Amino acid sequence: MLFDNHGRQLRYLRLAVTERCNLRCFYCMPEEGLNWSKKTDILSYEEMLRLVNILAELGISKVRITGGEPFVRRDLIPFMENLVKVPGIDKVNITTNGTAPLKHIATMKTIGINAVNLSLDSLDPERFKTITRRDEFDSVWAFYRELINQGLTTKINAVVMEDQNLDDIIPMSALTRTDPVSIRFIEEMPFNGGSKGYLPIKWNYRKIIEHIQTEFPRIERLADEKSSTSYNYRIPGAEGTIGVIPAYTRTICGTCDRIRLTPKGELKTCLYQNGGFNFRDFMRAGATDDDIRNQFLQLFKKRAKDGFEAEAQQSDENGSLQSMATIGG
Ligand code: SAM
Ligand code: SF4
Repeated sequence: MLFDNHGRQLRYLRLAVTERCNLRCFYCMPEEGLNWSKKTDILSYEEMLRLVNILAELGISKVRITGGEPFVRRDLIPFMENLVKVPGIDKVNITTNGTAPLKHIATMKTIGINAVNLSLDSLDPERFKTITRRDEFDSVWAFYRELINQGLTTKINAVVMEDQNLDDIIPMSALTRTDPVSIRFIEEMPFNGGSKGYLPIKWNYRKIIEHIQTEFPRIERLADEKSSTSYNYRIPGAEGTIGVIPAYTRTICGTCDRIRLTPKGELKTCLYQNGGFNFRDFMRAGATDDDIRNQFLQLFKKRAKDGFEAEAQQSDENGSLQSMATIGG
């Protein structure tokens, strides 16, 4: 089994299948996009499946597909179908911006992908357009309605940005009264691919909750699920829940059970680490399954205790020039 040097067992893989995206959320990447990698520099689906099979033997049981925007990569559905069949993998979920055709929702349900995280930072089409630099609100909203109608477990991820979408916090929280959705407000992190400068945030998770309490003073704190990354609440009688993710404040590192693979096959033992051992090169140089297994075990023996330690170890000063689209969120 895969344990780190702090006694934490790794159970959850975030697999970024592409760094490309059809939106340009300004907290994630610049208007002109990123310096996209060549197709051959990206892991093939076969290489990804090989790594997942080995990780499943090491105790990883849950995989989240992310990116970039996963649906811009061709043949994603057949890939996910294969992933669901990997022995030991109990859950395959996806994080998407919700611009893909609605027909994929029924297909996902059929192949056993029952939980979707939808990124949606505003319920206002104009604000949505300003944030994502694309006019796609209507398709994303339709995707959301279809997820709810088809009964998939749905979470909405909303990055809270001081100058952009504070007016959305209350309406989005109110959505949980009628819809069985979990809205999670995420602290903005410094990974914007050079899209903007970065100052420490004022809207941390405490301030977000205090703000929600001005409208919903009776929200109840819910028990934390194991290795949960959010603090969760419910408006009494509501269908859904409200969560805050202290992604910048980093108060949840102590129980972190995640491992991240970037589209180029780099392993990130922490979100705040830059660089990372490259499994693509390792595999292409002829590594056996045993070599790969041992490499995972070794790399987790020197894992940073938390995001602050990982950040302090960054080899260059331009951590903020990383984009979340290359890390996978
Ligand atoms: N394209 C897909 C999407 O947007 O859902 C998946 C990849 S995206 C990088 C994964 C998550 O990272 C999204 O929920 C997005 O809002 C979040 N994210 C991106 N940049 C961020 C930042 N600078 N701070 C906090 N969250 C960020
Ligand atoms: Fe694309 Fe997701 Fe990044 Fe927005 S957050 S630019 S949708 S990868």
